[in-house]
Amino acid sequence: MRTAVMAVLMVGAVIGGGPGMMRSDAVLASPTKAPSGEHKWAVVLHGGAGVIERKSMSAETDAAYRAALKASLQAAADVLERGGTSMDAVEAAIKLMEDNPMFNAGKGAVFTADGKNELDAAVMDGATMNAGAVAGVTRTRHPISLARAVMEKSPHVMLMGEGADKFSASVELEQEEPSYFFTERRWQGLVRQLKKENLPIPPRPQGVPPAPAGGMAEIEPPDAHKYGTVGVVALDRNGDVAAGTSTGGTQAKRWGRVGDSPIIGAGTYASNQSCAVSATGTGEYFIRLTVARTICSLVQYKGMKLQDAADQVVHKDLVAIHGDGGVIAITPDGQLAWSFNTPGMYRARMSEGGKIEVGIYSDER
Ligand code: ASP
Repeated sequence: MRTAVMAVLMVGAVIGGGPGMMRSDAVLASPTKAPSGEHKWAVVLHGGAGVIERKSMSAETDAAYRAALKASLQAAADVLERGGTSMDAVEAAIKLMEDNPMFNAGKGAVFTADGKNELDAAVMDGATMNAGAVAGVTRTRHPISLARAVMEKSPHVMLMGEGADKFSASVELEQEEPSYFFTERRWQGLVRQLKKENLPIPPRPQGVPPAPAGGMAEIEPPDAHKYGTVGVVALDRNGDVAAGTSTGGTQAKRWGRVGDSPIIGAGTYASNQSCAVSATGTGEYFIRLTVARTICSLVQYKGMKLQDAADQVVHKDLVAIHGDGGVIAITPDGQLAWSFNTPGMYRARMSEGGKIEVGIYSDER
């Protein structure tokens, strides 16, 4: 495969007449890309990994998560079934999860120790190896769309903070007041964690509803060890893979902390030469091991099966450094994988012509 790519690069150089043309020619004429429609599409998604156990989940919450995972998977499947690109499928599914307060992404994101929602997201396109990422954004309704805009409409790969939100407004993405991202459940989760850690509790954010008078009984107890980050990997009928991840990061994070999700190669990665991966878990470990890229390298250079490569990194390498979490992955030849070393990971997958599989706990297939 590599020899063939080299040949195309050389032809591209000759036809294009200069190095400036080489890259796009190689992408357009890549022999790894079969004619449109030859591949069966497939998609895998996660809604976060962590201490997610049957005993602490009510039947209603369990059912609500399964329904949400299914709806997002269906959104991606609809795009792919219509012949849409893997990148469009990734964005469509993640936008739905960003709008759903059950997940730690977009509305429903966890709070920083200062009582803010700082959102991170990334996308990568396996056909072109282009990528876009944002960290610490506070006003963009769909950080995944902003990551995509960074990839498609800026010369950069990663933007952060205020500048990223400014860019977001300039490309006319939907803007929100920071209070839009507030949810009572996450706020109570923050208060609980800060109390435990003896840290000061910030004032309740401006513009949000008053604290419920009847307490929090009706709200599922928030837990710092249920992550809820979202990610999607997809394969389209052209044989192109793409990956995306969106998160509020870890609860009570401080000092502008950024996790693995927006770091290309750590929490998000895609290449048609190997695979596409989205991760979830304690980001610090995923950054140190460049988890997503390492899985793809095992596939690319060692010829490992996708599931074996994912298990190697998640169950051996991560465990060896006490890293907790999981991944979803997909290859251009249609292998699907998920792997996690936590009690649960919200997840779903489907291949063209097959059925939707949804799982939460580790004792499910
Ligand atoms: N990986 C994310 C982070 O460290 C958190 C998560 O997966 O929920 O920011």
